[in-house]
Amino acid sequence: MANQHFQIVIIGAGPAGMAAAVTTTKAGLETIVIDDQKDSGGQVYRNLQANQGKSPAYLGQSYYDGAKLAQSFADCGAIYWPDCTVWQITDMHEIALVSRGKAELITADYIIIATGAIERPMPVKGWTLPGVMSVGGAQTLLKQAALGADDAVFVGSGPLLYLTAWQYIQAGLAVRAVIDIVGAKQWRSAIPFAPLALLQPDMLAMGWRWLGDITVTLR
Ligand SMILES: Cc1cc2nc3c(=O)[nH]c(=O)nc-3n(C[C@H](O)[C@H](O)[C@H](O)COP(=O)(O)OP(=O)(O)OC[C@H]3O[C@@H](n4cnc5c(N)ncnc54)[C@H](O)[C@@H]3O)c2cc1C
Repeated sequence: MANQHFQIVIIGAGPAGMAAAVTTTKAGLETIVIDDQKDSGGQVYRNLQANQGKSPAYLGQSYYDGAKLAQSFADCGAIYWPDCTVWQITDMHEIALVSRGKAELITADYIIIATGAIERPMPVKGWTLPGVMSVGGAQTLLKQAALGADDAVFVGSGPLLYLTAWQYIQAGLAVRAVIDIVGAKQWRSAIPFAPLALLQPDMLAMGWRWLGDITVTLR
């Protein structure tokens, strides 16, 4: 692997990295995709291959819809190095990485950084106690190992909180409560964005469905 040179190096095999690889290979560019996870998919489509065909399909249709992109990525002809962490990029387009415990250096004409988002958990008193974890951690356990706990209380805000609570319910786990910490009048600040949201009716419908299922279950 040492001293190899590539036209395009993409760091991250989540939806952004996979889509970029499909595009660059279609344009005839020699592409390599590097990702620190064992499988492609990133956060949203984590462990998709292993979870496909499992019953019940509790992770939701939008999760399984990722199969199309994952297949296009697998078929696109890009070189793919999973289990490989990039730790430095230099001005000379040298990419330093660790693959299976071994340090390597490769170079590229162009580098696409598609390393995605990280969760930003808010520290609260007791957040390091056993049995307390971030919602991203809880969802990762569910996707990666089909692990969840009964009687969980979900606290926070934003779509990942509701999606994970909904996935828990679909998985047959008992959810004790969902506590949204956003102030009751805060919805007003979202009004300017309403027209844009209306352009995505499928997304809105999905959110309504999660809220409806959670409300009915917790009533
Ligand atoms: C914990 C968590 C769970 C989420 N779950 C959902 C969900 O269920 N549904 C949803 O719609 N959105 C979810 N999101 C939001 C999610 O980030 C986006 O929807 C989507 O995954 C972003 O795609 P992406 O390709 O930009 O990045 P990501 O999907 O984050 O993919 C980036 C990839 O790059 C890899 N990477 C990062 N740094 C390096 C490095 N230095 N070297 C090598 N590889 C590296 C990561 O391991 C990852 O595989 C979640 C976010 C988080 C943090």
